[in-house]
Amino acid sequence: MNKYIATNRWGTFFGITQQTLDSVWDNLTNSAGDSVIYISMEIGADRDVYHPIKKRLLQPDIDKNSTNLLRHFSRLFLNGPEKIPNYGGGLGILAGDTLKSFADLKIPALAVSLLYRKGYFSQLVDSRLGQISTATDWSPENTPSLYLMKNPDFPDLPLEIEIPFYDGQDREVLARARLWLKMEVSSNLDFFIPEILLDYSIPSSPEWIRQVAQSLYDSISDQAKAVQRRLLGASIVTIKKTLGLTGRTIHLNEQHGVVVVLNLIAEWLAEKIGPNYSIKATDNDILQAAEAVAQNIVFTIHTPVKAGHDRFDKNIISQIGHAFCGRILLLLAQDDENPNQYNFTKLAMRVNRATNSVSRLHKAVTQKQFPQFAKKITAITNGVHHLTWISDAKAALYDSFAELKNWREDPAVFVNTGLLFTSDDFRQSFELAWQEDTRKLIDYINNMLSLHRKQMHETWIDPPNYLSNLDDGEHVLTPDVFSVGFARRFSTYKRADLIFDDMDKLADIIVSNNFPVNFIYAGKAHPSDEPGKSIIKLVLDLQDDLYIKTKGLGKLIFIPGYDMNIAKMMVSGVHAWLNSPKRPLEASGTSGMKAAINGIPNISTMDGWWVEGYHDGKTGWKFGYEADIETACLSEAPSTLLYEQDSAAFYEVFPKILAMFYKKKLHPQYIDKCIHNLQLNCPIFNTHRMAAEYVDRYKLHLPDPVNKRLQKLRKIYQSDV
Ligand SMILES: *Cc1c(COP(=O)(O)O)cnc(C)c1O
Repeated sequence: MNKYIATNRWGTFFGITQQTLDSVWDNLTNSAGDSVIYISMEIGADRDVYHPIKKRLLQPDIDKNSTNLLRHFSRLFLNGPEKIPNYGGGLGILAGDTLKSFADLKIPALAVSLLYRKGYFSQLVDSRLGQISTATDWSPENTPSLYLMKNPDFPDLPLEIEIPFYDGQDREVLARARLWLKMEVSSNLDFFIPEILLDYSIPSSPEWIRQVAQSLYDSISDQAKAVQRRLLGASIVTIKKTLGLTGRTIHLNEQHGVVVVLNLIAEWLAEKIGPNYSIKATDNDILQAAEAVAQNIVFTIHTPVKAGHDRFDKNIISQIGHAFCGRILLLLAQDDENPNQYNFTKLAMRVNRATNSVSRLHKAVTQKQFPQFAKKITAITNGVHHLTWISDAKAALYDSFAELKNWREDPAVFVNTGLLFTSDDFRQSFELAWQEDTRKLIDYINNMLSLHRKQMHETWIDPPNYLSNLDDGEHVLTPDVFSVGFARRFSTYKRADLIFDDMDKLADIIVSNNFPVNFIYAGKAHPSDEPGKSIIKLVLDLQDDLYIKTKGLGKLIFIPGYDMNIAKMMVSGVHAWLNSPKRPLEASGTSGMKAAINGIPNISTMDGWWVEGYHDGKTGWKFGYEADIETACLSEAPSTLLYEQDSAAFYEVFPKILAMFYKKKLHPQYIDKCIHNLQLNCPIFNTHRMAAEYVDRYKLHLPDPVNKRLQKLRKIYQSDV
């Protein structure tokens, strides 16, 4: 069993063989190796939703006590904390899903992100106060699968790197970081992607750096935000040198880490002109360097929403970066609207050899937003890691049908659910698995409601759910009631409250047909997003109105503390997944894909991925505005959010959905839609297919069997048409 413990100069790692460790590391550092450095502000990969090493440990053939080291690791991996709160939402979870698929497909890569000792934030919800944010309590020290990298010259000491900041007069101030290694291990433990998480909250770093490094998307000031971006981007060249990485391709997952480009330009100039490059380089030299550096950069842009694009006042940048950075930025990142700002998205757009948006519609939108770069903007539609997001009950179902054999390795086999479409056995087994998932979700909610009820008298928190205030026993949810799920970041353009816009109308649909409905909601708003937080409060305030107007048939539940575990329960346990953003502001959206691969239909506006996943109604329902995209459509102003029009469209379609679910004669049509999701959407909206499309942009030299597998995945779907 020591075949599951491996050691190299950076530390001792659990769950992989020595051979796997050596070959992965060799590929990343060998001069003939070809790999990717993937940079992301956040990476979401909690162990409680997916963990191949733990799964292996639970198998009976393993003697967990054979050595002390093995006993130590087994205990830690079986009982240790399961959350790694290093993500805020969709962007981070996409990064985690991508890296897991890279591991499964043996695509050599190393990821870099920051380690946030206070996480993103923990969400408490109080019915009177709305969202309350607190620091997340966790420690990497006792979290399995996180390893503090050792200093190979002094193995008792941790490895530390130094990143220079400047004080406005070009005097150096050093930020220092320790490196935590996390491994995204392939499903059969024979490959892994190392993630380097930089921990700047250490004693040798200046206090102001330690403060800023603690929370993901720290929003205390623009200065803090700019410092965080620099802590990520300016570390890459140093990490490459320290670890001896030979990867030539750098993938910017959103523009947060784009400062790396400045370092690479400086490096190129130093080589060409010599150590005095910052004095000697002409503008032309800088532009030439940028062109050379661009050959190594691949950029993914994730949102058309303005708040997603970093713009910084020039004086903020000059307080932390070298004056020469200012010269580069002036040439490559001058904001078009504000003469006093640099635009980091523009820098990322400009210096790369491939840019992609995250869905077909988002490509058109991004081309409108950046007309000067329109020609090079392509689409690679997002996906989700199917092994992470398919529920246990559904996985057991897929395992039990020969037609779907191999679904773990190859999500394309789900096209074969077409063969099973008329099989009563498959349809019934599908419904049974679904009921199991629904029961799990409803049990969770009922337990939560009763816990909140108990806590009501013991804490100062007023329970977030109206139902907690009613008597116990009677006011619980039952799994046979149609449940609609809605969970995502609370941001105004996502319009969480859209379907309650005309409460009388909604209540009438429910009452006149006597169709009970649970609306199950979750999600966080960024602590400084006041409009986003006020929508959470609004949703809480709607609960009693809905309940009373529907005579108890309509229940609106809010689950606090949205995370990957809650997401997985929701996307597999509800009966339909609701997505109501204002078109075209949702670049892709991924929670709907998680529902789809569990066979759950979406009810969605024609935005993001749903434009591709809708299939003329075979997989779910559409509603709301779907005409052409004009520049005016991109407005996020409250008066332009089309509440009246799009909610009216929802009330048109909703009664038909309820009837199809509840009426015995129509119900088989509902199951048709579920199976069509497996057949039409599973093969496409997964990160295996997405990773294959990315590798095409990376132009990596890979072994033949790996290439063959990727080519096969690319044949299924081309996002960029
Ligand atoms: C999937 C997921 C998201 C992203 O959902 P979108 O539909 O893309 O907005 C956010 N948070 C969690 C916890 C998730 O699992």
